[in-house]
Amino acid sequence: MKTERAENPRRPIRIPPPKMADGVASPDGTAEATKQNLEAQPHPSKKIDMNAAKQAGNGQGAEDQREGLDFVRRIVEEDNRTGKWGGRVATRFPPEPNGYLHIGHAKSIALNFGIAEEYGGECNLRYDDTNPAKEEEEYVKSIEEDVRWLGARPANILWASDYFDTMYEYAQDLIRKGLAYVDDQTAEQIRQSRGTLTAPGRESPFRNRTPAENLDLFDRMRKGEFPDGSKVLRAKIDMASPNLNLRDPVMYRILHESHHNTGDKWCVYPMYDWAHGFEDSLEKITHSICTLEFENHRPLYDWFIDAVNLNRAERDRIWHPQQIEFARLNLTYTMLSKRKLLQLVNEKTVSGWDDPRMPTISGFRRKGYTPESIRAFAKHIGVNKFNSTVDVGVLENFLREDLNKRAPRRMAVLRPLKVVITNYPEGQVDQLDAINNPEDPAAGTRKVPFGRVLYIEQDDFRETPPPKYFRLFPGNEVRLRYAYYVKCTAVVKDASGAITEIHCTYDPATRGGDSPDGRKVKSTIHWVAADSAADAEVRLYEHLFAKADPDDVPEGQDWRANLNPKSLEVISHAKLEPGLREVMAGEKFQFERLGYFAADPDSKPGRPVFNRAVSLKDTWAKEAQKGQQK
Ligand code: ATP
Ligand code: MG
Repeated sequence: MKTERAENPRRPIRIPPPKMADGVASPDGTAEATKQNLEAQPHPSKKIDMNAAKQAGNGQGAEDQREGLDFVRRIVEEDNRTGKWGGRVATRFPPEPNGYLHIGHAKSIALNFGIAEEYGGECNLRYDDTNPAKEEEEYVKSIEEDVRWLGARPANILWASDYFDTMYEYAQDLIRKGLAYVDDQTAEQIRQSRGTLTAPGRESPFRNRTPAENLDLFDRMRKGEFPDGSKVLRAKIDMASPNLNLRDPVMYRILHESHHNTGDKWCVYPMYDWAHGFEDSLEKITHSICTLEFENHRPLYDWFIDAVNLNRAERDRIWHPQQIEFARLNLTYTMLSKRKLLQLVNEKTVSGWDDPRMPTISGFRRKGYTPESIRAFAKHIGVNKFNSTVDVGVLENFLREDLNKRAPRRMAVLRPLKVVITNYPEGQVDQLDAINNPEDPAAGTRKVPFGRVLYIEQDDFRETPPPKYFRLFPGNEVRLRYAYYVKCTAVVKDASGAITEIHCTYDPATRGGDSPDGRKVKSTIHWVAADSAADAEVRLYEHLFAKADPDDVPEGQDWRANLNPKSLEVISHAKLEPGLREVMAGEKFQFERLGYFAADPDSKPGRPVFNRAVSLKDTWAKEAQKGQQK
């Protein structure tokens, strides 16, 4: 079942607007019934339970996570014990290539690939490319890149569209068995006759066509004799079923669209619900793991497989996968819907799918996240059966933890204030030793130049210090990291009264940062020598949404009302120690006292651009907040 794409060259894709008759809803690969189910009664998976969030956040989600095993792994172990699948474990990660992968997908990747690895099985990467209109080559590429970056190794890379012929044959089989029919009603008529959760649906006037007539019509649909939206193939199940998914769901619709893989071969395309179970069946998936919204689709998937197997001899029966539903990941301050993320990209609210504010894998990567931190996060949150929202701070902490161990320390001044050391000789440069990473002695030390003119953070100086402020102010002495004690002697202002520079004296006896006379200072601040400083752009990010639940908006507004106007602040002229003048995109550092930063691909030789991946905990900000509350 190796269908590596290399030997299957594909044409570039264009995305024409769907050709639809007026008033016909655009089929989006999701059975209409699903949407109605969701609209009528939002599935619990769409609701956010903040209490559950707390539990999920501490990694103790479900009671059934006994002995460190989540419920999915317990099913796998039980199946292995009973020999249900002959000890075989086959999973898959099945993204639809209609957007970039996000952090929710990372949870699914960790689960599916993790289980395959732990139980000696295989996990396929399968592109669920049944919908011609929305899928793009760009997404396909990004998905594989992101999956591999996360450390997952697909056993096979497969395409749902490679199964179109087989699915078509299955459909003909159902028609012959009297289990499917061609319906001439419009999408709107079908929707209106579907009934509600409390009222049964109405049967289509075309429901009792003979198999022969249906076979002929379906064949002509395939040949392109009918326009988009004029006919569909539906399963003949039960218009009164309490499960709306079983009320004669649409299996095929006509779409005169070329497909990135199958070109113009088809103008009938399978609906997601018809296709999905067969994809798993054809790959002989043992544990088909999906999110909770699909729980009430499972009876339909079962019905489809059973319908194909009806009247077949044992040896001709197709594989019946076992579906297991788990709770999708929700994160505070984070939107995890591809449709909405696409909207942010299209409306240029963000710079692209990999904008560091996006919750996409590529966004996190660009921002400075490591695959290790994302995997550790996924492991920590675990999997369970109830939906919850995890605090985004939990994810951020995993990055801090990882980078704390690995990221070299450097000094950078984001908002520079000029400091002149008046008793330091003009033109002299002193090379001081700085520790690269206190967590990793093997990382060694480096030289950092010191001179008469330096930059410190504006925040590290107050002309009139508030209570408990121990940094620099007139008359106060502080330690410059790895350098000397300095004392502020004067403040220089321009005509408008704004501070332009401050003057200090240094104590040469404190070289390295300690005073031989045992004199203590209460604060150590970072600095960069002005002459040799690298000039950099630094991008500071806040959450993209100002509200913990981005979908929580007053009546009449949409989720975009919750966008955080301060999600990006660009600092054009930060000053960095000279060693950072040339960096490679993706290199990560801890800027002392500020946070972890990653070099952005926009960096040019001599002009680095850094993204703040995550801040350090800022105790002063908390202190200041407390002050305000009093
Ligand atoms: P979206 O709702 O963002 O459009 P999707 O479910 O349509 O996502 P797919 O490409 O179909 O996206 O998803 C591929 C796999 O990833 C599916 O198995 C799906 O269940 C899983 N997945 C998607 N979102 C999440 C999430 N937030 N948490 C966990 N798994 C997810
Ligand atoms: Mg989907």
